[in-house]
Amino acid sequence: VPSFVAADGTLPKLEMEFTVSSKKLQKMVRHMVNEMRKGLEADGHMLKMIPSYVVTRPQGDEVGQYLALDLGGSNFRVCMIELRGQGQTAIRQAKHVVSDELKTGSGEQLFDFFATCIGDFLKSLGMDTREKRSLGFTFSFPVSQNAINHGELMQWNKGFSASGVLHKDVVVLLNKALTKANINIHVTALVNDTVGTLVSHAYRDPQTYVGVILGTGTNAAYVERMSAIPKWTGDKNIAEMVINTEWGAYDEESILPITSYDNALDRASSNPRLQIFEKMISGMYLGEIVRYVLIDLISTGELFRGNSTPKIQTPYAFDTAYMSRIERDHSLELSDTKAVLENLLDVHNTTVQDRRIVKHVCELIGIRAARLSAAGVAAIVTKMKRLDACTVAIDGSVFEHYPHFANRMRDALRELLGIMAENIVLEQARDGSGQGAALIAALHTK
Ligand code: ADP
Repeated sequence: VPSFVAADGTLPKLEMEFTVSSKKLQKMVRHMVNEMRKGLEADGHMLKMIPSYVVTRPQGDEVGQYLALDLGGSNFRVCMIELRGQGQTAIRQAKHVVSDELKTGSGEQLFDFFATCIGDFLKSLGMDTREKRSLGFTFSFPVSQNAINHGELMQWNKGFSASGVLHKDVVVLLNKALTKANINIHVTALVNDTVGTLVSHAYRDPQTYVGVILGTGTNAAYVERMSAIPKWTGDKNIAEMVINTEWGAYDEESILPITSYDNALDRASSNPRLQIFEKMISGMYLGEIVRYVLIDLISTGELFRGNSTPKIQTPYAFDTAYMSRIERDHSLELSDTKAVLENLLDVHNTTVQDRRIVKHVCELIGIRAARLSAAGVAAIVTKMKRLDACTVAIDGSVFEHYPHFANRMRDALRELLGIMAENIVLEQARDGSGQGAALIAALHTK
């Protein structure tokens, strides 16, 4: 417990509640491996373990120009990717923000918006929208696939609820919108962002067997041997297939360190009881957990002399990016933390003590997230039996920008795997999911 904390206050309790021991993490790895096995045996289990229909990984020598559309969460990108061989790519892209209106409006509007963006992008590159092209569609929501270019949305998450999309084939919806907009593009591959991240990284580094997203949401995909997927009823002559774990749905009360704050967040969320692991480690939620803790500390008078602000009482007003700024603040007076509190949360007249407490809360929640993420990675490499050498490609703002996140994950991996952890390389992947979708479109157009 830090020296600035009263021994009988709420903070020591927080410390206990948010700290995950090595033993707990180890237990989680074993349990998760078992859940992965169950998900591969049959549908209807906690981990969906969705076959991606991606059966070949790139050799690095693929060439050509391919289009991709990438809907991840907060952002949406249209990309033109040029594969140049030898693992080299060039990418041109247009990035758009998906407004809350689009996320929660009608599905038709959402897909029409995608078609418009694709049309504008082609025009901006001086390309003819009537020329026939194929496109890889990265759609990062749980989809039940029955072919490389067919898949029905099983469930929205990350704040999306657009109507008329659930249980529909999203490839059909996109093709329809494209036809309506007179754009001669056909979706040839439907790809989860984790799968895209894995495949695009494998184009450069063939040791890549895992793709992880730590952004708005979280998920992971990995390469599984066909013989370990009993529920697969398709072609058995395939050696391996990329599996989308949908690990964000991991939820084991006896193992996950779920606090009253996590429960409050879950109850108030748009998808209560779902995506519990995601709600403990991903960008959409980390700041929100901090906010719940701060409100509690304000109510006990341990923070800001008991003074609250309307901003702090507003759901999702504490962005996870603020945690990054606060954790990066090593100044004596925590002056940047002061700036975040004043300028972004309307909390004025904070004491250094207040700011230390806020920073410590961020640390507790940030460390917990990194350690739980590491347990997920350890479970996957253990399941694959690839403790000898494996690159894990990780994309998303949380892994990329949150200070110490990668190191905290590595520390936890060492606790979990001992010396073998040195064989597991965590690598930053950037915008890989779009490139991956284009690559998969390329592999499936050949
Ligand atoms: P995507 O929506 O495709 O996953 P990102 O990977 O950029 O996009 O993730 C966005 C999420 O990351 C948001 O929830 C946001 O709060 C969080 N985020 C953005 N910037 C930072 C940062 N500097 N540090 C930590 N989290 C961040």
